[in-house]
Amino acid sequence: MVAAVLLAGCQSDGPSGPTAGSPTFDGSVAMDLVRQQVGFGPRVPGTPGHAAQLDWMLSRLGTVAPEVVTDTFDHVTTNGDSLRLFNVMARFAPENARRIVLLAHWDTRPTSDAEPDPADRALPIPGANDGASGTAVLLTLAELLGAQPPPVGIDLLLVDGEDYGPGVPDMFLGARHYAANLPAIGRPEYGVLLDMVGDLEPGFPVEGISARSADAVVQKVWAAAERLGYRDSFPTRVGPDVIDDHVPLIQAGLPTVAVIDFTYGPENAYWHTQDDVPENVSASTLEMVGRVITELVYSGG
Ligand SMILES: [Zn+2]
Repeated sequence: MVAAVLLAGCQSDGPSGPTAGSPTFDGSVAMDLVRQQVGFGPRVPGTPGHAAQLDWMLSRLGTVAPEVVTDTFDHVTTNGDSLRLFNVMARFAPENARRIVLLAHWDTRPTSDAEPDPADRALPIPGANDGASGTAVLLTLAELLGAQPPPVGIDLLLVDGEDYGPGVPDMFLGARHYAANLPAIGRPEYGVLLDMVGDLEPGFPVEGISARSADAVVQKVWAAAERLGYRDSFPTRVGPDVIDDHVPLIQAGLPTVAVIDFTYGPENAYWHTQDDVPENVSASTLEMVGRVITELVYSGG
């Protein structure tokens, strides 16, 4: 037994495990938060479910974060809809000048554009994966950050209006608002976006825009996954480009990577459909992503 332990300790390529002393991210906690969000109903701007989730997020974050800031703004869509939108930021280790922003969108899409039956396309999506998953991981991480202050400043940013649409001019609204108002003091060094991080069959190749625009950040995140033994689910090959909330941040000069599994269900069949439900989200996938981000943070970012 001693020899075997020594042998394992001498391997240089294998996973080294999480940074000593870092807290443990529990996927079942995140999964429960996915169910709670879906329970509010669709979180489309202007609807009761959206208002209920905003109150819920502020209440949860208010108990664990040293600072919570709500940034309220308005947007008139190309269709003439007037939206009131809310970015919520929880700041941990607020005194630390070196900061990372971790973001996810909390709103959900008002239409199920990808439904095969046209009659279903007018329905809002449940948003268990596309909206609730990334938010659940960040809210679970918030509990850990509150209990054990991180060695680097962390801004958890829950952005609104990512998925309003239908087209790109009326998407990524919260991320654009944030990017247009980046602070001179306390500006993060880099960002990590979580979106669609709960699929039953996880696959997180490096997103293409991230690979070209934020390679140093890609190296940090995928190295954290490697240390935890998640190489199979976090392959270092570069996958397709996905236009998402990281793009406005990159355009504002803030290198940001998207951690996104853009094959939700067989051939992405559940994306923007009525099948985006908690039954198609996995606690173990949420846990894997949560542990990668926890490792990134507690290893010093
Ligand atoms: Zn979406």
